[in-house]
Amino acid sequence: MALQDDRESHRLNQEGTPPSRDPQDLPNWVQRQDLAEADLPYIHSLLAASYADWQEQAEGFPWPTGRPIVLLHLDGSRVAPAADSPEDNGMSPWDWSPEALGPTAASIAFGTCRPTLTRADEHAAPSLKAFDSMAVPIFTRTTGIICAAFACLLPAGAAQAGELKLLQSAALHFRTCLYRRFELLFVKDLMRATQLTNREERRRDLLFEVMRRMNDHIDVENVLAEVFDILEQAYPLCRTDLFLSQDYSSSNEKVKPLAFHQQEMDICWKSFMEGAMREEREGGRRRIALPLAGKQGVYGVLLLDVLETDFDDSDLRFVTMLTSGAGTAFEKAKLHEQSNTLIGELRLINELTQRLNSSLRLADTMQFANAELLHIFKADHCFILQLDPLNGHFIIMSTNAPEMNNETFDQDYGFCGVMLSTKEPIILSDYHSATPVASYLMDVTHSRSLLASPLLLNGDVIGAVMVTHGLPNHFSYDNYKLLQVLSAHLGLALSNSTLHAEVRRMVITDQLTGLYVRHYLNERIQRKLQKDAHGSLILVDIDYFKKINDTYGHQIGDAILIQVCNIIRSSIRDSDIAARWGGEELAIYLPKLTLEQAMRVAERIRNRVEEETSPNVTVSCGLSEWMSTDEKISVESLFYRADMALYEAKNGGRNNVAVG
Ligand code: GH3
Ligand code: MG
Ligand code: MG
Repeated sequence: MALQDDRESHRLNQEGTPPSRDPQDLPNWVQRQDLAEADLPYIHSLLAASYADWQEQAEGFPWPTGRPIVLLHLDGSRVAPAADSPEDNGMSPWDWSPEALGPTAASIAFGTCRPTLTRADEHAAPSLKAFDSMAVPIFTRTTGIICAAFACLLPAGAAQAGELKLLQSAALHFRTCLYRRFELLFVKDLMRATQLTNREERRRDLLFEVMRRMNDHIDVENVLAEVFDILEQAYPLCRTDLFLSQDYSSSNEKVKPLAFHQQEMDICWKSFMEGAMREEREGGRRRIALPLAGKQGVYGVLLLDVLETDFDDSDLRFVTMLTSGAGTAFEKAKLHEQSNTLIGELRLINELTQRLNSSLRLADTMQFANAELLHIFKADHCFILQLDPLNGHFIIMSTNAPEMNNETFDQDYGFCGVMLSTKEPIILSDYHSATPVASYLMDVTHSRSLLASPLLLNGDVIGAVMVTHGLPNHFSYDNYKLLQVLSAHLGLALSNSTLHAEVRRMVITDQLTGLYVRHYLNERIQRKLQKDAHGSLILVDIDYFKKINDTYGHQIGDAILIQVCNIIRSSIRDSDIAARWGGEELAIYLPKLTLEQAMRVAERIRNRVEEETSPNVTVSCGLSEWMSTDEKISVESLFYRADMALYEAKNGGRNNVAVG
């Protein structure tokens, strides 16, 4: 039997001196325990049960009166036997309160604390006029306060001192029954409390241990594994799921994304939004959603599905503490991972910008950036494109797919077209399932994942970078953010290199004719003299150009000069180098061409000038050749010989080709 009143059981647990750890001591300790005054209003059920025990044991007790012995509570109410029970047999008035009965032995015994016998009294209540009454107080065992009384009503004149003595011994017997029950109750309470304490202690140990282990981990996966591990240990029958927000992905099969649209996720969603525990009960089960939260936010929700009978409030406290600790550990590990990633990214950005800025050669810079991006994003393909606003197209500056190099696309086409209009980066998880625009690059490279970013300069798109992968969902949100940062640097590098290339082009290009300038030609020939085995030079001079100027004016003279230069440009190979040597003298170096071959080129030029210029002019050409076997080879001697030949050509009547 347990005390029905919770207050009492609570009080007993709280105020009882804790038992010694020595089991030998327990009986003594229990026997020293007693009912306290504050307990007394709540001991009806204890008294009733003890009375039943006593009755069972007192069978055959020589009670000659034939009238029931009544157990009264301190408040005067009758505890036993019940008025309608066979033991009472309708022989006792139900209400034993002094108001109802007048000064009976019981009320006197409660007042005097002594066994009392009262004779029938004509002043008594009508129901008692014909009765003697006897009452014996029952005292608590150590504090000696009255907790109950045994009482009996006898026909007038029947009560004798002998009966009172008998009632006294019955009361003593009852008291032993009462204390046996009390001790039993006490020990049961104690055992329950000990069990609870042990369980709590075990859990505390477990919690402590798991917190320590969780905080040792600086890796999110391990923290999550610990949480599942301890829940498995503590609640093997409980179903556990962890829903994590954002794009956090885990290899743990119990970790799922927090999908807000699903109905069954309702309490998870609420718990996540409010950062508080949520639960619902249905069909004997409890579904409990606990937020996985740290100081900076809520990261997910732990969902438990348990049988109501397997899970009480202390379990709830336990898992709440566990999730709270896990939230903190998760946050710590996540921050650690993030700071590691950030450090890595900063290092990368630093290295990349240094490398990007260390060379101003556009092709080198872009080739380097291409290789780095492939490596950083573990991508299959990388394309860096530059916008050519004059021609309205993007051109591939650099790629690891060599066959695509220098490929051009209309500036409105594909993902570059999208970026040109939005100026926003793009992350595409699967080109197959969502194809926002047709993309030649994606099709040709059989790519499914795409990460792309425009290259901006002062808010204008100057190019684009794209990395792709053959598998879907290859790039993460972090990748996307990193590419954005990198592309800002890449944009600057691209614009720097382009500007540098432009400046360099201007420095080595003659403004009027578009041919190279003299010093550049000299440099190039100088290098060829060191590397090649042979080569040829043609000097071209317009005949009677002074006269042309005099006749048509300088502007027309300039136009003719440009016509001649265009003819030269379209008459030579890409590897040949044509320059304005000075005034209207032009020079063409033909690497690895023999004099004979150079002759044909010079003839072709001479012929075309004669036929194509308007107003019509002619040119004279002087040729020279060098071979590595020659004794003295220099740029100067090569020019000298060509100049001499030119002089001869002029002397030979002009519109002529001569060899030096
Ligand atoms: P030739 O070579 O046949 O002996 O007669 P020429 O009249 O062409 O004589 P020369 O080559 O010595 O003359 C060079 C002239 O070309 C001088 C100058 O008036 C003209 N000239 C040089 N540079 C330019 C230029 O950039 N524009 C124009 N319009 N004329 C130039
Ligand atoms: Mg001339
Ligand atoms: Mg000249």
